[in-house]
Amino acid sequence: MHNSIKRRGLMLVLSSPSGAGKSTIARMLLTHKEELDLALSISVTTRPRRASEIDGVHYHFIQTREFERLRDSDALIEWAEVHGNFYGTPREAAENALADGQDMLFDIDWQGALQLQEKMKGDVVSIFILPPSMADLKERLHRRAEDAEDVINMRLNNARNEIERWRSYDYVIVNEDLDRAYHQVQSIVTAERLRRDRCPGLFDFVSSLLDEKLD
Ligand code: ADP
Ligand code: 5GP
Repeated sequence: MHNSIKRRGLMLVLSSPSGAGKSTIARMLLTHKEELDLALSISVTTRPRRASEIDGVHYHFIQTREFERLRDSDALIEWAEVHGNFYGTPREAAENALADGQDMLFDIDWQGALQLQEKMKGDVVSIFILPPSMADLKERLHRRAEDAEDVINMRLNNARNEIERWRSYDYVIVNEDLDRAYHQVQSIVTAERLRRDRCPGLFDFVSSLLDEKLD
């Protein structure tokens, strides 16, 4: 697409059962910013910070009272309780980015994905990431070694319920080979950016094409 053609940003929603590789794929998308130029929506959460996480980069880590204040003042576009903690998407950052034509990545669960699909249908492109097998999922959760054993078991138990939600997504990717899965996400974003209905700037572009005087 011609760079000067104006379009609204899209909301790329990535969901998966915990351990399927969604954060890894999200990190690859954000690290190779020159390829897709996606901005991450940084959620608020009441979950305790993991050793590898930085406040304000991976999440805004907040107390339950502050979460309730944000939720009740409509400052979150969506929110959900996941694995016993609260998570939510700050409204202002996302709405400003989209209006600016900046595409945003949302690493959120199926409950959040449903809320965004209801409220902002035309903007959402949703992808569900599946593991190649439940055995792989279990192994990945252990290999990540970031959560306690009881937390891993709870996440594994919740995985079946999460996997059942696959039908409400636009695209489904099986993350067996990481590079392949990453390139599949890239292809989806590239194609979705070219959708005619996302590019109101095409009206002006086509008018100027037709008005162009040839020598
Ligand atoms: P999620 O964000 O879905 O909970 P992560 O991205 O944290 O999952 O991935 C869980 C673990 O699995 C990490 O250790 C990650 O390096 C590993 N992983 C991700 N994708 C693959 C893959 N295709 N093959 C093998 N291991 C993977
Ligand atoms: P984790 O604790 O592993 O970082 O995330 C647990 C789950 O919460 C993941 O499925 C993740 O996608 C989801 N999640 C993270 N942020 C949000 C959010 O803002 N809203 C919703 N609905 N889910 C979120």
